[in-house]
Amino acid sequence: AALSRTREVDIKGGWKVGESVPYAALAKVFALIEATTKRIEKTSLLTSFLLLVIQRSAKSDTNSLLQTVYLCINRLCPDYVGIELGIGESLLLKAISESTGRSLSVVKNELKKEGDLGLVAMHSKNSQKTLFKPKPLTVPFVFKNLEEIATSAGHASQNKKVSIITKLLAACQGEEAKYIVRSLEGKLRIGNAERTVLVAIAHAAVLAEQERGITPSLAGFTHAERSSASANKRSSKEKLAEKLEKAAEIIKSVYSELPSYDLVIPALLDVGVDRLKERCKLTPGVPLKPMLAKPTKAIGEVLDRFENKKFTCEYKYDGERAQVHKLEDGTIGVFSRNSEDMSKKYPDLMEQLPRCVKETAKSFVFDSEAVAIDKATGKLMPFQELSRRKRKDVKVEDIQVRVCLFAFDLLYLNGESLLQRPFSERRALLKEHFQEVPGEFSFAKASDCETVEEIQAFLEESIKDGCEGLMVKMLETESSYYEPSRRSINWLKVYWHGQPGLNVVDKLVAQVKKDYLAGIGDSLDLVVVGAYYGKGKRTNVYGAFLLACYDADGEEYQTICKIGTGFSEEALQSHYDTLKPLETMKPRGDIKVGGAKPDVWFEPKVVWEVLTADLSLSPVYTAAQGLVDGRGISLRFPRFIRIRDDKSADDATGPEQIAEMYGRQVLAQSKGGKKKGGG
Ligand code: ATP
Repeated sequence: AALSRTREVDIKGGWKVGESVPYAALAKVFALIEATTKRIEKTSLLTSFLLLVIQRSAKSDTNSLLQTVYLCINRLCPDYVGIELGIGESLLLKAISESTGRSLSVVKNELKKEGDLGLVAMHSKNSQKTLFKPKPLTVPFVFKNLEEIATSAGHASQNKKVSIITKLLAACQGEEAKYIVRSLEGKLRIGNAERTVLVAIAHAAVLAEQERGITPSLAGFTHAERSSASANKRSSKEKLAEKLEKAAEIIKSVYSELPSYDLVIPALLDVGVDRLKERCKLTPGVPLKPMLAKPTKAIGEVLDRFENKKFTCEYKYDGERAQVHKLEDGTIGVFSRNSEDMSKKYPDLMEQLPRCVKETAKSFVFDSEAVAIDKATGKLMPFQELSRRKRKDVKVEDIQVRVCLFAFDLLYLNGESLLQRPFSERRALLKEHFQEVPGEFSFAKASDCETVEEIQAFLEESIKDGCEGLMVKMLETESSYYEPSRRSINWLKVYWHGQPGLNVVDKLVAQVKKDYLAGIGDSLDLVVVGAYYGKGKRTNVYGAFLLACYDADGEEYQTICKIGTGFSEEALQSHYDTLKPLETMKPRGDIKVGGAKPDVWFEPKVVWEVLTADLSLSPVYTAAQGLVDGRGISLRFPRFIRIRDDKSADDATGPEQIAEMYGRQVLAQSKGGKKKGGG
């Protein structure tokens, strides 16, 4: 059904083999995808559209599929290249007004009513009388213009941007303006998670291969022949379903190792899904999606999970993740957890790095944590020291805080990917090919503990040394392979949840057992989506904030709690200064509000790390609604820990994680024989 609906879209567009993909056809598919909430239907709509793109592209044309895919995920290049869309509301309002001849105040008023700039642009366009039918937009044309907007910088760039947007909008018909404006804003809001797009690419590639074969007609066959053919047909249907599933797994795994559509899509069109893994492997220079850990509530859980298996405990350093790459030609790159190029933030690291690499390591990728250290004493300093640094154009001579790398994994060495080698081997190779340089480069401190007491002692030691807790990792066998982009059960984190900044060692150690057992086991990274004005002395700033988690599948922010205690006057002023420019007139369309009623709303951008005493079901908030109950889940007594400017809003904690935490809390409470929360 999805296929025939997309074909209908296509036929209306009159798009022939060898022609550029009409943007109108893409916009119509976006509208169909937006109109359904069913994930399967979204995937199949996109699959059939991508299939059409493949079938209608000339043989050597890889750009049509590549650019269509980029527009579907609203990006223009791989993450690490760092060209982003995200044009501000005022520029877009100006362009809409200029291209449609409506006054700025009318457009602004409509935005107040609609809360969606895309809809405002579409209505403005459609209410305008035009004498000529504009030349139809194509995907390559739109893509090129978006690229130009995203890359124009400098003095006159604002005017240039408005002028390109105005021209683009002038050529829009039907629903095109809605999606172009949303693309420019940086959010398509059709509920098309990247995972859906990956699955659709895989399915379209398999179906394109399949459709190249010819299905024989059954006319002229005997009854017996027909039924045997139809039995075969059924089994071939099952085979196809299997093939589609396998293809999706292959693409997801290839993409997590080599997250660049620029490389994966041409290879896919060239060799097909089955041989894709041979062609697309971890490559220095292309940051892979990092492996992440699962939280634990108590040390006992570590032993339950790793019973009879070899594991190791490492310090969990409190800094910023740094994936370090060296290419054969000697180029070095440092990438953040989000694949951002960090070389401009860390010129000092770039200068230090060659000293820790032995001559035997010609090309490599290692995983590490960059931690601030005190120049004089060599002591580790908290994450905040690093987060104060600018992200770009940092000059070595201006740097106050020294950075030391703590390396914990080696993923690639001298032309070979090590992802599928046991961790014990990867760790041995790391130690063989790199050397410690005091204050600049160290191997993560590790201890191959075996008992609860040993882990406990090592955890306490890690806190004394200024770390956040421990990472416990599987050491041998397949379970210890590096799993890109996974929050893996083979990496567990054990935290200490005390007051940050407390450093009276005896007090800490005494609190360790009590505190990390009491919390829910992990902190949450939440997006600030709204605020409440303060009272009394605080009327000029926001006094409390509305937080949300992010559902990557549904592409929506779900409200989770109000947080308002524990902020100093200075902190409130500084949050106000950061958040004020993000105020919007209405909650953005992708915020699932529930019963929350803040005084102001924000563009979801700022991420805070937050701790909570526990979780409870809530009729007001929408986080994880439907996952454990018809009600949402809320945080009780949330406590602000720090700003996470190394995370973007899309990296915020997801509803499944919150539901999982709630589940573990309920389980722990029932084991402990007490019952609380639930109200
Ligand atoms: P966090 O908020 O703690 O950074 P996260 O969701 O970003 O959490 P987790 O999977 O919870 O990531 O924890 C892994 C993070 O801990 C890594 O991204 C890395 O930055 C940091 N880290 C510090 N020490 C280690 C270590 N020894 N091994 C792996 N990761 C470490």
